[in-house]
This record gives sequence, C-alpha cells and structure tokens, in this order.
Amino acid sequence: MSVDLKHKNPTKQNSPLKSPLSKSNKKITKTPSPKKNAKISLIKYLVSPPKTETKAKTPSKTESKSHNEKQNFKPALPKKKLIQNLIQLEQDVVNEDTSKKISPKKRTKSQLSPIKDFYYRPPSNTVFDLQEYLDDLDVRQIDEDMNDNEYKFLKKQILQCKRAVVVTGAGISVASGIPDFRSQEGIFKKIKEKTNSENNNISMTTGKDMFDFNFIYSSPKTLSLFNDMVFDLHKKIKNTQNTAFHGFIDTLAKKKKLKRCYTQNIDGFESRLDNLTIKHPIGLKKKDWPNVIQLHGSINHLHCIKCRNVFNVEDKHFLGQINRKNGSDSLDYFLENDDTVRISDLLPDCPECAEAEDIRKIAGKRSQGVGKLRSNIILYNEEHPESEGIGRVVESDILTNSDLLIICGTTLKIPGVKRIVKEFSKSIESKKKENGEGGAIIWLGNEIPSQSIVDYVEHIDLVVLGDCQKFAEMTAKWFE
Ligand SMILES: [Zn+2]
Repeated sequence: MSVDLKHKNPTKQNSPLKSPLSKSNKKITKTPSPKKNAKISLIKYLVSPPKTETKAKTPSKTESKSHNEKQNFKPALPKKKLIQNLIQLEQDVVNEDTSKKISPKKRTKSQLSPIKDFYYRPPSNTVFDLQEYLDDLDVRQIDEDMNDNEYKFLKKQILQCKRAVVVTGAGISVASGIPDFRSQEGIFKKIKEKTNSENNNISMTTGKDMFDFNFIYSSPKTLSLFNDMVFDLHKKIKNTQNTAFHGFIDTLAKKKKLKRCYTQNIDGFESRLDNLTIKHPIGLKKKDWPNVIQLHGSINHLHCIKCRNVFNVEDKHFLGQINRKNGSDSLDYFLENDDTVRISDLLPDCPECAEAEDIRKIAGKRSQGVGKLRSNIILYNEEHPESEGIGRVVESDILTNSDLLIICGTTLKIPGVKRIVKEFSKSIESKKKENGEGGAIIWLGNEIPSQSIVDYVEHIDLVVLGDCQKFAEMTAKWFE
C-alpha cells in the first residue's frame, strides 16, 4: 500500500520482499518465478490503506440482495431433525466408546475426548445461535448438555487447531467500555456531534474526519482536537480491563494454537496478556514478528516523522491537553489569539533526534534538525508506514497453512482487512475435508455478516451468532 512498496521491484538476490518460500527455491531456479511476482502483487493488494469511502453509493447488485440475506443462510437443523441426527450420532459414539472402554484400564487420549471422533461439517454459512443456547443455561454447566452438531463442530475445531488466525475488530473491546467506531453509539458519531456543537468554526460531515490525515493536519486547531480525542481515549483505555475474548486469544497462544491475531483495534489490550505480543515497528525479519499485528497502528505509541523511532505514549506528550482538562484555557487562548502558531508547535520533539543533534553541536557539525513525534494511529488518506512488514507477515502466515480462521467483532468494512480474510479463507478452504477435518472458517458476532461479505469471503463454515465474551467464557471451560 505504501508508495515505496509500489515502486519497489524485487530483484533476485537482495529484494527485501523475498519470502521464505522464494528463499528455499533459490537453489532450484534462478529466474524469478511467476509465483514470486504474484506474491509481490498480493502484498500490495493485501495491505491497502483505509481510505475514506465514497459518499454517494448506488446500491450494487449484491447489496440489493441484502434484504434476502437471512434466506440465504442455512439455519441449524430444526430441533426434530436435529434430535434424529443426534440419536444416530450419539449411538455411533456410544457404541464406539463402549467397545473401547471394556478392557483397558488406561484409556487413550481420544477416548477421553469423544469430540475427536466426531466427524461433521455444517453446510456453508450455517448459523449457530449461541445466545439461544446460553440464555437458559449456566455457562459452567452446559458442556455435556450441548449435543448440537454445530456446537461439537465448533468445539472440535478450536481444540484441534494448531495454527489459528484470529481477525478482530472493535466488537471485542466494547465490553471493556471502549466504544466502537461505526455504530450508532460509536466514536465517529460522538466526535461529529461534539465537534459541531462546540463554537470553534469547524464543521464535520462525519466523525471519520477526525481520523483523516488531511483534516487533522490542516490546522493547529484541528490537530488540537485530534490530540484531545487521543488523550481522552488513551486515558480511558489505560483505566479499563481487557475482555474475556482477549483472554481467549491469549489461551490459544498459551496452548500453542495461535498462528497470528490480526487486529484492527488500536487499544493494545493484547499486550497486557502473558502470551500475546505487540511490536512497533513490526520489523522485516520473521523472528522479530509479534503474534498480534495491529493493522491500524496503536494509540499507545508515537513515532518520529524523521527518524521513525517509536516511543510509548506518556502524559507529558499531551501537556496542552492536560492543561485544558485541568481548567486552564491557555491552549485555546494560544490557538485563537496567536496566528503565528504552527502545527509543529503542537507536536513534541523526538528525544532520539534531539540527542543526536546535541552531539552534532558539540562536534561542531551542521544541524540536521529534530523530528516531531506524532500518534502511531494509522489515518485515512495516509500511506501505511508498516505496509511492507504486515504484507510479509500475512504472506508467510498464508504459506504455513492455517487451520482455523476466526473473524470476530468486525463488519469487515476496510478493504485491506477484507482481503486478508479472503486470502486466509481461500487457503483453509483448499485443505478442508467434508468430514470436518482440515480446518474451518468461523464468523463470530452479534450480527450475521452482510450478504456482500458472505459473497466476498466465499467459504464461511459457521456463523456463531452471539456475544463474543460469552463465547470466550464457554471456550475457557473447554480448555480446563
Ligand atoms: Zn527522531
């Protein structure tokens, strides 16, 4: 997605984009293979910047189908049919288990977990209504009562996977009190209302403007509003707990089942958990890659626009904002009465650059200037500074044959993320077997995916409809 990326033509020997696969093929073939070129274009395509969506949209053919979307889902079997199937199924399991249980005193692992001998794959896009099952049951007691095929399928996929990929969005953090961006109560709407109600001569058409590079850096006043928003959100995140679903991802990592979590969230809750890691910049070497990739940057970090060094956010970086919160109007006064103020006046100096500058001064060398620190949140209409690193990770993860894809808490509105999901889905689909072995693609959320997403992703096995936190509580029981 970055300009650099677009202009870089990988060469045979020293391309920074060379993948592990191309490395292993080096001895076999010297000429760049079409595969390699395909991979490069994939990187470009996968990590496209979150661009402002076009406002006027005529409904596409797929979108116009949306009122029919529920009909296109195959709901879980009606109870009667389900029971018939289950009787047969349970019979098989019972017969098999009984025969095995007769003689040996030490039972094998597979006998201890009958789910392992369960073979079933639901028809594509089957909806499993988690809430319906959980409503009347205590989460801690449900396990053995739940004989539903979809339930067993889900359990088996999660317990058996070895290289799970989890793609998350704001929905997984809402339970901690962090609002999402796009819903009725979301951040975009709140920001628009707040900003337009203030007497500051700034009018927003959408709250998304507050995450738009061109808007934020258009004036000191708009940058100050952005800093205000970041300050508030950062403080809120600092004072809240991660959710049960973050714990679920951590458990996958602990059990050596997590290949990678790709999150659109900037809150960084994952870094508080023992088995999850976040890193900025991601780096180009495989050994440096964290197991959580923040696709849209981080609210907890700043980077220098000159030397690119990354720093943890500290209160001192928001001095202007802190003064405002403490009742001082010095920043507002400054912004409204001093038209010589520049955008750079609102950005802290980079300590690394400052130190280097001091050394140059002592050595009598020419000044090279000190860079400014800006938020590490990736904005609309800016080049993604880590597109190359993220592209490499995605490419490598696809090649390692993931066996479970969980998409949770997102409506997949961002094209780059949608594309990542499609690529993993395609890769898993090619290994899937009808009997349920070989992996699965699970959609988890309070709402079924839109028809256009279903058509785009193509291969969703199970739509788990319900609260992802309840899902996490349920799976925690499985791992006990
Ligand atoms: Zn710097």
